[in-house]
Amino acid sequence: MSGAATGAQPDAGATGTSVAGAGNTRARSVHLPAMHLILSDPSCQPLLTGYGREQTLAAARALLAELRGDMLRVANAGGSAPAAAGEITIPAITALLAQRLAQANQSPLRPVFNLSGTVLHTNLGRALLPDCAVQAVAEALRWPMNLEWDIDTGKRGDRDDLVEDLLRELTGAEAVTIVNNNAAAVLLMLDTLADGREAIVSRGELVEIGGTFRIPDIMQRAGATLREVGSTNRTHLHDYANAANTQTALLLKVHCSNYAITGFTKSVEVAELAPLARERQIPLAVDLGSGTLVDLEQYGLPHETTVRETIAAGADLVTFSGDKLLGGPQCGIIAGRADLIARIKRNPLKRALRVGKLTLAALAPVLALYRAPDLLPERLTTLRLLTRPAADMRAQAQAILPLLQRALGADYDVRDEAMTSQIGSGALPVDLLPSHGLTVRAAAGSRVSDALGVLERRLRALPIPVVGRVAQDALWLDLRCLDADHQQRFIAQLEALAV
Ligand SMILES: *Cc1c(COP(=O)(O)O)cnc(C)c1O
Repeated sequence: MSGAATGAQPDAGATGTSVAGAGNTRARSVHLPAMHLILSDPSCQPLLTGYGREQTLAAARALLAELRGDMLRVANAGGSAPAAAGEITIPAITALLAQRLAQANQSPLRPVFNLSGTVLHTNLGRALLPDCAVQAVAEALRWPMNLEWDIDTGKRGDRDDLVEDLLRELTGAEAVTIVNNNAAAVLLMLDTLADGREAIVSRGELVEIGGTFRIPDIMQRAGATLREVGSTNRTHLHDYANAANTQTALLLKVHCSNYAITGFTKSVEVAELAPLARERQIPLAVDLGSGTLVDLEQYGLPHETTVRETIAAGADLVTFSGDKLLGGPQCGIIAGRADLIARIKRNPLKRALRVGKLTLAALAPVLALYRAPDLLPERLTTLRLLTRPAADMRAQAQAILPLLQRALGADYDVRDEAMTSQIGSGALPVDLLPSHGLTVRAAAGSRVSDALGVLERRLRALPIPVVGRVAQDALWLDLRCLDADHQQRFIAQLEALAV
């Protein structure tokens, strides 16, 4: 080691650590303040009260060790340290310390701007919830709740009861049960009704939903034998009728959430299949996936089969997600015949898949909003975003454009353009919603190589990272999901984007 450091321990010595570069004949001496002086400095007090003594001390030790190393390297190279060696003041050190502690204590789960154009984005947490749900969750976090305790009788209750009446009213189902997500709902339903027996599914409906959820795999895990019928593009009622036998436990229809089969196609509707199910006394289950509780056409959106329609058409059980079109928290809802729901609730797996109080706290007020369907587009965040007219987003784009252009400088070319959003999460996969937003391209003569890659990284490095979509040599920022109250925060951090 050619450099000489005195006071190897950061808190050794009353005045601190001196570092002299041995390679430097004029021995530029630099100085780090002693630990106890740093810790007792007024500038450090907020850190000690905010992060505690142990954590602050450990971070300070690490920082001083790093600074000492930097200084040694610079001194040995005969240069002067970047932080003007010899003049590293205590406030400068606590400022660095504050930055590091803040970063280390940042939640790993962070808000982002979803400008991807996909409203219900699974990787970004799907539905955003309305304030009524946010408040209910905050209260449930702070208070013991009557989760499984009947206030009227003072006896033990059932957590499903908290939302059952409302869901029955909204779907026409006799009974419901709630689990952690729709994948769990399908698993629990199959495990209860078809374990060791057969479930008949059309070859056109053997869906894979992203991640690892595939109907054939989930069936296998549930112990059910998959009996495929029909062909990829066409399945007829007689295919189901021919396959049904004494081993058949279930007829299952699955919503083609993320694809469409077009052309020479035929699938059997629930209403067509229901009489066969009745006649053979085999339950008919429908995995609706998204499943909505209202006719979306009344809001100018494409029609998506509702849970009520599916039950009215003769489904014995319907499964759907809480955080897709419904606009609530992550959960899976199984609605249908009381006797089948009772069997499902007795399955020990239900206990493993049940939801917690936060989910139910959020779900109940969201469901209550559906009692006023006329007010739903104002009140239900998901529906508000889905029904925003493109003109709104165009006005926003025009307001933001000059600010973004200024932040990005001459290497980029920002324009406002029409684009299309998608609902996402397997709801109405082929229906696109007219939208508007900003596109960013590398300007002619841009000095940045891989300009879009650089831009994407810069957007991700912002305090609230921005998620866009790269296509056709441009970054597309769809403004549909940029609420008025989020717009200010979006603009406020543009400054940090400037290089
Ligand atoms: C989304 C979806 C699922 C899975 O639901 P999660 O809530 O993501 O678990 C299952 N089936 C269909 C048809 C879906 O669209």
